[in-house]
Amino acid sequence: MNSTVENSNIWEILKQVPDPEIPAINLVELGVVRAIEKLENKQLRITITPTYTGCPAKKLFEDLIIEELAKHGFNEVEIVSKLNPAWTTDWLSDETKEKLMKEGISPPTIGDKVIMCPICQSTNTKLLSQFGSTPCQSLYSCNDCKEPFNYFKCH
Ligand SMILES: [Zn+2]
Repeated sequence: MNSTVENSNIWEILKQVPDPEIPAINLVELGVVRAIEKLENKQLRITITPTYTGCPAKKLFEDLIIEELAKHGFNEVEIVSKLNPAWTTDWLSDETKEKLMKEGISPPTIGDKVIMCPICQSTNTKLLSQFGSTPCQSLYSCNDCKEPFNYFKCH
């Protein structure tokens, strides 16, 4: 690998890193990876924003990014966490939201006002538990199809 690798290639590498909690989605799609900077030689600085401020996966995100870049010959990687501006649903593309729905996870909605069932798209849903299958998700139940589902929390 030569040291003049373009930033776009690094974005491609980071697209190989799945979200540890939702493996169908990668960290770039999720909007966790905010910036890539090339420092001297092969040193990289990656800026990440966790999806949820208390997200215990944050350390895991960092480890996975470092591990993936090391596979491509980048051994000096600095990870910077940026909490401001906070992660928002706007950083998810429609395609990514669709993928989440297919995984049975309702993507976050602005202001958490209307939570849509990923199975039947009903908005007639109720909160069962603040914590779903992972701490970054809440467990909801649909009043129409009666199925429980996970809602992806944002901060
Ligand atoms: Zn439903």
